[in-house]
Amino acid sequence: MKTTIKTKMTQNISLNNKKISIKDYFMSNYPAKIIKYKNYRDDLILICPLCNWEGTAQESETIENNSACVTVECPNCEKMLLIAEFPLAN
Ligand SMILES: [Zn+2]
Repeated sequence: MKTTIKTKMTQNISLNNKKISIKDYFMSNYPAKIIKYKNYRDDLILICPLCNWEGTAQESETIENNSACVTVECPNCEKMLLIAEFPLAN
């Protein structure tokens, strides 16, 4: 029985006869840009290498803030575009 629950980027693709997830494929070929949080601004222009979406972090409306970093994803294809790391606590 097929499940209809859709999860993010769980499709598999075949690469060199090896099945890998699309997420692994794109993350390794187009790694997200990693910057320091002090260099992060909401109006940074981001360009998605997969679907060519272009806009600011704020426009993407995918900004997520967790204890370690701020992440921004492409609003079209969910590609991780930017990771802004918080400074490590001393
Ligand atoms: Zn995209």
